[in-house]
Amino acid sequence: MGSMKEIFGSLLLKELLKGLSVTGRHLFARKITVQYPEEKTPQGFRFRGLHALRRYPGGEERCIACKLCEAACPAMAITIESAEREDGSRRTTRYDIDWNKCIFCGFCEEACPVDAIVETRLFEYHGEKQSDLYYTKPMLLANGDRYETQIAADRELDSKYR
Ligand code: SF4
Ligand code: SF4
Repeated sequence: MGSMKEIFGSLLLKELLKGLSVTGRHLFARKITVQYPEEKTPQGFRFRGLHALRRYPGGEERCIACKLCEAACPAMAITIESAEREDGSRRTTRYDIDWNKCIFCGFCEEACPVDAIVETRLFEYHGEKQSDLYYTKPMLLANGDRYETQIAADRELDSKYR
């Protein structure tokens, strides 16, 4: 009985008509496809994109080489070396992030006691070879210098929700 029903249904092209009705319903509906890169979806202030190292307004780097971010990183993507400066303060001599390993979890910025390492809204990047995704301290500081206004505004907003 079941197979008779199936044969009858296929003769009437029931499945085809069902499919066409779905197409018809969506033909004139509002389109939700984003035409990237001309159009972009909104980003939250906690967006986790590429990292940056920040400085204080006077130009001094925030990072105090405590290595908490390195310890918190589950992907072991951060490598830090440090040394004492002449004034007795400790600063990094090496701060690398390997984005081939990074999973953008945000643990590093959560661990940082001085808001030095942060994730920015930058997500449009690519690398043609593995070494292109290996960022060193000067590159991370350059990210911070370039996007500080946006970073500071996002951190300010973030603090209101904690
Ligand atoms: S975002 Fe996560 S995986 Fe990436 S460097 Fe920071 S702690 Fe490591
Ligand atoms: S970025 Fe922050 S957590 Fe990492 S070493 Fe520097 S001060 Fe410490």
